[in-house]
Amino acid sequence: MYVGIEAGGTKFVCAVGTGPGDLRDVANFPTNTPEETLGRTRAFVAEHAAGLRGIGVASFGPVDLRPGSATYGYITSTPKPGWRDTDVLTPLREVADVPIGFDTDVNGAALGEARWGAAVDVGSCVYVTVGTGIGGGGLLGGQLIHGLLHPEMGHVPVARNPDDTFVGSCPFHGDCLEGLAAGPAIAERWGTPAQDLVGDELRRAVDIEADYLSQMAATITYILSPARLIFGGGVMHVDGLLDTMRSRLVDRLNAYLDVPEITEDVDSYVVRPVLGDHAGVLGAIALADRAATAPDPPSRPGFAQN
Ligand code: ZN
Repeated sequence: MYVGIEAGGTKFVCAVGTGPGDLRDVANFPTNTPEETLGRTRAFVAEHAAGLRGIGVASFGPVDLRPGSATYGYITSTPKPGWRDTDVLTPLREVADVPIGFDTDVNGAALGEARWGAAVDVGSCVYVTVGTGIGGGGLLGGQLIHGLLHPEMGHVPVARNPDDTFVGSCPFHGDCLEGLAAGPAIAERWGTPAQDLVGDELRRAVDIEADYLSQMAATITYILSPARLIFGGGVMHVDGLLDTMRSRLVDRLNAYLDVPEITEDVDSYVVRPVLGDHAGVLGAIALADRAATAPDPPSRPGFAQN
């Protein structure tokens, strides 16, 4: 039995279980102060500590995943008020002496989709979420992507769409991808949240959004060459966006990558997640299982050393 914790910037989701067919005691609560939110998380773990084999935490970030770092398991330079330099794991270790898998929310989601969802049939994938922010994580050669830190795919520079005059909303970079294409950027640009856009404004918004997201998809495809690209998050529910983005991607790559997955069947290359509402917490459970049964060797970053 595992506890999975989806530590999101808006809400935390905790659950007990082993996979999509076995998910129990799902608890949701808003992300308030670290004291209150981590206190509730700690209490959830304590309540289920008997027989527990591992804990998985899939967290908003940036997070410190460097083994041996004094701040391993911390949320670090987040702009979220009150959460900068917050130790997420110590409160959990205090109530359960079990392996803890800790990673970004998007690496967790990629692992969950690879195990049970949209990428079970391929050996590699990248998971991107487009919502209040933009993030991406992935699995290549069976390993979650870590390096100097972890991927921050939402902050890549993009070429500005010629019809876009919005200045950009990223507090660090202004008009990076997240600053131009995350939910808050769309709402600021049009004065209306993405899901409420209609008519001509919707058409123009989809055009601009698909342009930016197809740039990201092309960049990921060229640099990481995953076998599948999974696009989730609230913004991806906007009418027509996914299909427009797929066709922009094909145009942009311009048959340079001569593989049928892209030239003939891009719908099977760029897909939606299939784990639905529980994708985040299932990703966390996958992280727990990995930490308990097949932890990365100590020289590799990514998991708590127990
Ligand atoms: Zn940025």
